[in-house]
Amino acid sequence: MNATALKCPSMKPLRALRTLALSLACGAFLAVGLRAAALSAPAESTPALPRLVDLGADKCIPCKMMAPILAELKKEHAGRLDVVFIDVWKNSDAGKQYGIRVIPTQIFYDASGKERFRHEGFISKQDIVKKWKELGVDLAPKKSAGIVREKPVAPDTRPRDRVCSLCDGDVDARTKTMVRGQSEQRTLCSPHCYFIYQSSLVGADAQAEAGKVSVTDWTNGRLIAATTATYLYGMAANGRPTIRAYADKGAAIRDQAASPGNVVTWDVLRAKELTTRCGFCDRAVYPEDACPVKAGSMHTYGCCTHCAMGVAARLQKDIEVEAGDGLTGEVIRVKTLNGSVAALEPASAVAWFGQMRGPDGSWASAGCFKQAFFANVTNLQKWLDARPTMTGRQITIDQALADKMKLSPEQIAKACKLGECK
Ligand SMILES: [Zn+2]
Ligand SMILES: [Zn+2]
Repeated sequence: MNATALKCPSMKPLRALRTLALSLACGAFLAVGLRAAALSAPAESTPALPRLVDLGADKCIPCKMMAPILAELKKEHAGRLDVVFIDVWKNSDAGKQYGIRVIPTQIFYDASGKERFRHEGFISKQDIVKKWKELGVDLAPKKSAGIVREKPVAPDTRPRDRVCSLCDGDVDARTKTMVRGQSEQRTLCSPHCYFIYQSSLVGADAQAEAGKVSVTDWTNGRLIAATTATYLYGMAANGRPTIRAYADKGAAIRDQAASPGNVVTWDVLRAKELTTRCGFCDRAVYPEDACPVKAGSMHTYGCCTHCAMGVAARLQKDIEVEAGDGLTGEVIRVKTLNGSVAALEPASAVAWFGQMRGPDGSWASAGCFKQAFFANVTNLQKWLDARPTMTGRQITIDQALADKMKLSPEQIAKACKLGECK
């Protein structure tokens, strides 16, 4: 209350009346206790700012989930919003003074100290920002804050037959895989990219599809029919499977001595490759490449960071995601609650939404291979510097989740299927 008293002399005349009312309210609060305080926030800061008061306790679970959100709001909106936490178990009078019924409760006070809204239970950062906006306080970050790259810094000059049409990676001449389409040949970097492609086809007959695939013979570089080839299915030092194709089974067995692995048929290879799928878009993934996602006791993967967020939308459940920073691999943890981000570690993490301009000029997702999360904007910038052909924009992790949560079940069913991204 001292701060209020100190502030009074410097107040402009128009504000003086409000301050008087506030002082009276605080006086009443001191004398009587209860409801009066709930109507007026104790004023402590100069100048007057909108104020968010969270009443909770350090041991209640939803209260604990509020803690990082409050810390972020405090940091991100310093000078624009006061954020106050009151532990009502340690300070039991406070709960009574504010007239709360449950913890946590958040009370929104405008800059004049008037209570404008109160919310009971956990509330996400996104919903807090939204509520402030409704109350006329715009806390949304300025549009110019994020990185936007509308045009490639340098054109992609690689010959098209040396670029994987699925992952956009360079095609290794020894693992090149071709799919004969209706009108065009699709060049893929490896049999693995073929299985990703196949798992993202809509209503395609897998067997008929396989008949159109050619793989490269590891020994001589010739294209051979995928279904009749023999495969040496091994493992790289990082645990990622490796696939070599052979027209001659004897050659595969000879290579096995130097490069340990299993000598398998197409059908066995196919079954292995399609075992682990993205929990959002259902594409085949290697766990080594994917983001682990926990939904209660269920464990799945997101083939990319944005798909990992999409698991919350597809399952309509709270999830926990462990994403590797696209540049450094540093772990970024996201927890969701009721379709919003409830916890983010580190709080500075950002998302890159890889987008490309379609022939009609509109922006569309550039696909799962162009999406990533980063521990901070510096890492994103370094990653972009190394990818001059990349286009898209920086978005928040909240936005990456919100983009998925707004999808209808029909849209989710089509998610990431080839040609459906637009
Ligand atoms: Zn590829
Ligand atoms: Zn996916």
